[in-house]
Amino acid sequence: MQTKHYTDQKEDLIAAAALLRAGELVAIPTETVYGLAADARNGAAVASIFTAKGRPSDNPLIVHIADKCELNTLVAEIPAVAEALAEVYWPGPLTMIFNKAEGVPNEVTAGLDTVAVRMPSHPVARRLIELSGCPLAAPSANRSGSPSPTDAHRVAEDMDGRIAAIVDGGACSVGVESTVISVCGDRVRLLRPGAVTVEMLEAVAGAVEIDEAVLKPLRDGATAASPGMKYKHYAPEARVVLVRGDAAAYRDYVNANAAEGVMALCFDGEEQGLAVPYLTYGHRDDAVTQAQQVFEALRLLDERQAAVAYTACPSPEGIGLAVYNRLLRAAGFEVVILD
Ligand code: AMP
Ligand code: MG
Repeated sequence: MQTKHYTDQKEDLIAAAALLRAGELVAIPTETVYGLAADARNGAAVASIFTAKGRPSDNPLIVHIADKCELNTLVAEIPAVAEALAEVYWPGPLTMIFNKAEGVPNEVTAGLDTVAVRMPSHPVARRLIELSGCPLAAPSANRSGSPSPTDAHRVAEDMDGRIAAIVDGGACSVGVESTVISVCGDRVRLLRPGAVTVEMLEAVAGAVEIDEAVLKPLRDGATAASPGMKYKHYAPEARVVLVRGDAAAYRDYVNANAAEGVMALCFDGEEQGLAVPYLTYGHRDDAVTQAQQVFEALRLLDERQAAVAYTACPSPEGIGLAVYNRLLRAAGFEVVILD
């Protein structure tokens, strides 16, 4: 299949929307990461997302809407807390999981009786939802397991020849996937951290429960509240090892383990004295920049053919919790603690 490369100009968006309406797959920019979109009402179109990504069929997708009234066709009921959160954080990087309405295809929900919904803020994503007239089911636009793409050229690396089109909307402003919460129970439950932080959720919804899978590997035999959390994820070819400690402890650890193929993925300004090649992903105290750069840094490790990447461990506060959660999975939970 010849993949079309579209700009974010009007004629191109009209053409991309026509493809979506016809049941084709189109990669689209959002404020979090690029998404691989299909008409969420079309089970066959949604099924082809799983094939294009190589995604396990038990991992459900997020449905993207442009207007709150589209929720009514997707969910069985809208809890008051979801109304309140939508009022403050939609459009934006917050996904909420509801009991699903009849008629949402099983391919979207991977057979669950719940559905994940988000209203993105990216103008191109919103325009495409409006022009196509469909809610769009869209996971991240990478091959399953590899780091999420934050620009169109990374999408093309994974998806050229496998999907109908890629819409280039420039670099994603957030850089990590949306916050995912369940609003089905008595209490809001965080399943995946993102740019809408625990503090931001609690300011509107009261105490938020943090699912064990956010920070720990799933115990043998346990079922994941969010199926995506059970896979080794976001991982480059290189073996990633998180190293927790201050700049000096990190540097000494990396240098003690220097060898052919070893690289450092460190914080900006902490490169001095490293005895191995390095990449950086934002300042230690700047989790917003870390989020913007972390996936690109993981992809660059492979371009540099790193065998091992000792990665400075981010502080898990605010959006830093999302960066830490992704790096933990990229590292397969391998963490060296020096403090
Ligand atoms: P992605 O953004 O491509 O990484 O995938 C969407 C994420 O949302 C995955 O981690 C899914 O497991 C999660 N998700 C989607 N729908 C549901 C649902 N109904 N219940 C729990 N988690 C969900
Ligand atoms: Mg993904």
